[in-house]
Amino acid sequence: MKHKLNRRQFIHLGTALASAGICNADERQNQLTYHEATRDIPIVERADVVVCGAGPAGVAAAMAAARCGAKTRLIEVNGCLGGIWTAGLLCWILDTKDKPGLLVEIMSRILEKQAGYVNKPGYSFAYDVEVMKWLLEQMCVEAGVRIQLHTRVVAAARDKQDRFNLAITESKSGRQAWAGKVFIDATGDGDLAALAGCGFDLGRPKDGKTQPMSMMAILAGVQFEQIKEFVRGTEKNSNVPKLKLLAELRKAGVDSSYGKPTLFRIHDDLFCLAANHEYDVLPTSAANLTEATMRARAEINSLVNALRRVGGVWKNLRLVATNEHIGVREGRRIHGLYTVSAEDLKQGLRHKDSICRVYFGVDVHSVSESEGKGITRTGVRSRAYDIPLRSLIAKDVNGLMMAGRCISGDFIAHSSYRVTGNAVALGQAAGLTAALAAKTHCLPQDVPWEQIKTTLTRFDMDTLE
Ligand SMILES: Cc1cc2nc3c(=O)[nH]c(=O)nc-3n(C[C@H](O)[C@H](O)[C@H](O)COP(=O)(O)OP(=O)(O)OC[C@H]3O[C@@H](n4cnc5c(N)ncnc54)[C@H](O)[C@@H]3O)c2cc1C
Repeated sequence: MKHKLNRRQFIHLGTALASAGICNADERQNQLTYHEATRDIPIVERADVVVCGAGPAGVAAAMAAARCGAKTRLIEVNGCLGGIWTAGLLCWILDTKDKPGLLVEIMSRILEKQAGYVNKPGYSFAYDVEVMKWLLEQMCVEAGVRIQLHTRVVAAARDKQDRFNLAITESKSGRQAWAGKVFIDATGDGDLAALAGCGFDLGRPKDGKTQPMSMMAILAGVQFEQIKEFVRGTEKNSNVPKLKLLAELRKAGVDSSYGKPTLFRIHDDLFCLAANHEYDVLPTSAANLTEATMRARAEINSLVNALRRVGGVWKNLRLVATNEHIGVREGRRIHGLYTVSAEDLKQGLRHKDSICRVYFGVDVHSVSESEGKGITRTGVRSRAYDIPLRSLIAKDVNGLMMAGRCISGDFIAHSSYRVTGNAVALGQAAGLTAALAAKTHCLPQDVPWEQIKTTLTRFDMDTLE
C-alpha cells in the first residue's frame, strides 16, 4: 500500500516532517505537541560511505565498501552486529546458492570455527549466533570499517543540490551528525530513506497488513539423537518434523501461535526454536513492537515450560535466550529506480545489471490469525530471477542506496528475496557501488555498469581464495 493513503499507514510529509514517518497514526491521534527548539549539533565525521543498520545486508555493504578503499562508517542501534542473524537469534541462512564473495567467506569462517554446518548445499546453512557476533566484528575491523554501536539514526538532511549529506543519530553521546558522500539504508525497515523523504510502500496492497513478527529462542538441555524426529532437516518433507513438534506441544497442553513450529539444530546440544507469530503489528510503532515482544516472550516461556513438564526426552529442556530484538519480516519497501515485482518472479526475469540471483520461492507468512497460522497460498510460482542494481538506488533522493529487505520491490517479491543469503549479496553490491561512486564523486546510478561488474567479479574471486 502506498504510504500516503491509509490511516493505518505512516503519514509521510517530506524531509521537514520526516520524523512523522516513524510513528503511526494511532499514536499521533489526540496528542499534545511540544515545539522543540532548533539547535546546532556536531558533525562528528566525514566518511565516503555511511551505512546505517548492521544486519546481514549492512555488514556486507560496509565490508565491501571498506575493501574497495572507501572510508566507511557503520551505524547500528543494537549492541552487536548482525541484525536478525544475532540480535534476532536466527541461526539459519537461506538461499546460499550462487552467492560468491562475502557470503561464502562468512560461511567458510564459521566452518573453520566449528560453529556451523551446511544443512543443504546451495540452500541452507546453520550457525552459532554468539560466534557469528564475534566473527562479524572481526571481519569488519579487518576490512577497516569504523563501527558505532548503540546508536540510532533519527533524522536525515540533504544539501543545496538536494543530495543526501547527513545522517543524524541519537545515543549516549547525544545528538550527532555523520557526513558522507554516499549513504546506504540497511535498517531493514527503511528508516533512513523514510527520514530523508523517500516514498515507500508498506504491507500488502489491499490493506497494508504486514507479515507477522516472530521471536526466536535458543534451547539446550536436550540431545539431537533423542529429539531428531522433531528437528528440521532430518526428513525429506520439512513439514513432517514441524507437525510432530506441534503434536508434541498439543500433548503438553499448549498451542503455538505459529502453526508450523520449527526446531533447528545448531550443535548436537543447542537448538533454535521458531514457534511464535505476532500478527497485526506494525514494525514502525514502538508501542506495537513492545506489546509484541512481551507477548511473544511470555508465549515462548510457556511453550518451553509445558514441554519440560511432559518429561521424557524433554525433561531437562532449558530456555537459554530469547531475541534482543523481535524478528521483523517486513518493513518499508523504499521506492527505487526499478521495482522487483511478482511478475519478475513468474517470468524468472534476467537483467543486464543483475547483482543477485534469487532461488528462494514466495514465502508469505499469514498476516492475520483469522487467515491461518502458517504460510499463505498466493498462487504465484516463482522461477529463479535477478535483482537489478537499480532496485537498490533510491528514486526520490540522490546519493542514497538501499540494501537488504528494504530495497524496492512489491509485497510478493519481497517475501522471496528477503532471506539473508540474498541480503548479503545485495549489501555487497551496494557497498562496492557506493565506494566507486564516492571515489569518482558521482551518483551511484552514474557509475558505469562495466566498472561495477568488473569490481564485483574481482571482489568475488578475491574473497573466494
Ligand atoms: C522470524 C524470522 C525468521 C526468518 N527466517 C529466515 C531464515 O530462516 N533464513 C534466512 O535467511 N532469513 C530469514 N529471515 C530473514 C529476514 O527475513 C530478513 O529479511 C533479513 O533480516 C534481512 O536482512 P537485513 O540486513 O535487511 O535486515 P535486518 O536483519 O533486520 O537488519 C537491520 C539492522 O538495522 C538496524 N537498525 C534498524 N533501524 C535502525 C536505525 N534507525 N538506526 C540504526 N540501526 C537501525 C537493526 O538493529 C538491524 O541490526 C527471517 C526473518 C524473521 C524476522
